Amino acid sequence: MEERIVSAQRQTEDDPQLEAGLRPRSFKEYVGQEKIKEKLAIYVRAAQERNEALDHVLLYGPPGLGKTTLAHIIAWELGVSIRVTSGPAIERPGDLAALLTNLGQGDVLFIDEIHRLNRSVEEILYPAMEDNALDIIIGKGPGARSLRLELAPFTMIGATVRAGLLTSPLRDRFGVVDRLEFYTPEELEQIIMRSAGILNVKAEREGAAIIARASRGTPRVANRLLKRVRDYAQVKADNIITAAVAKEALLMLQLDHKGLDEIDRRLLLALVEKFEGGPVGLDTLAACISEEPETLEDVYEPYLMQLGLLKRTARGRMVTNETYAYLKLPPREEPQQKLW
Ligand code: ADP
Repeated sequence: MEERIVSAQRQTEDDPQLEAGLRPRSFKEYVGQEKIKEKLAIYVRAAQERNEALDHVLLYGPPGLGKTTLAHIIAWELGVSIRVTSGPAIERPGDLAALLTNLGQGDVLFIDEIHRLNRSVEEILYPAMEDNALDIIIGKGPGARSLRLELAPFTMIGATVRAGLLTSPLRDRFGVVDRLEFYTPEELEQIIMRSAGILNVKAEREGAAIIARASRGTPRVANRLLKRVRDYAQVKADNIITAAVAKEALLMLQLDHKGLDEIDRRLLLALVEKFEGGPVGLDTLAACISEEPETLEDVYEPYLMQLGLLKRTARGRMVTNETYAYLKLPPREEPQQKLW
């Protein structure tokens, strides 16, 4: 599968060190998500005053919106260490047991893609999250014994695209459950100006605003586009990201003013031309653009729906009047009822 410049998922070109450098370190530096930040700041302070571990936190929403960043900030604000792992990386119960026993008092364990934990690992988590205990079985067969180990109180922060992907016993063990929203163009502009400062790139506000609008509501995409536009500015212009430079660079990447690329346009066109605007099932639509149905559903559709270019209905996916306007096609004529 070729990588898309507008993909919100982490890609090979996203150097982890550079990403870490652009990552805000405190609630103050973290742009947007005001309601979540305000709530979390209160819980963090309350936990600190009571000298307790913060309640377990589940963050969900499309990739690239700042879940990992927020987990680091929570740990930093709490003044504790953070261990970072992901659902697929924890293969056996023993891997998780090792992680848990190494946590210090009040530390944070961050598990990305927590919905991908396997069942036997997940079962270890229940008593750990609820009673700070680890149940281990020693030996096999009739002689096997169960041993309970005390763990230091800790905070689990889980991240996933949709809360509904978690089993309900796991979801129920999180005291704080929050959904991250897409960012507004103004917030993304602020993020881009901040990143430009860190990367030592000169960007005019108007230039940043154009990149912001093409960033699909997603900081990770904003930072990636900024880097591409910077390269363009360096080679083709005077190293300054003006509105004109930003526009030319995005055009070269075949992105339009809303950040939609060839694949998005192909998807919308297929819906209009092959399926008369829908409704059409997820699997069929995914096949049209050679994507996995899950990726289409969790990664690409949310932004198209946010723009009002796609609708999910009980019978399938449909386009809207805006889709016809966006594709510069005449709106679909509703079959006229003949009265005479
Ligand atoms: P997720 O875990 O949701 O996939 P990340 O936390 O890895 O997303 O965020 C991706 C990148 O976007 C980070 O490296 C960070 O630089 C940037 N970023 C995310 N959220 C914000 C924010 N609120 N303010 C500034 N930059 C952000």
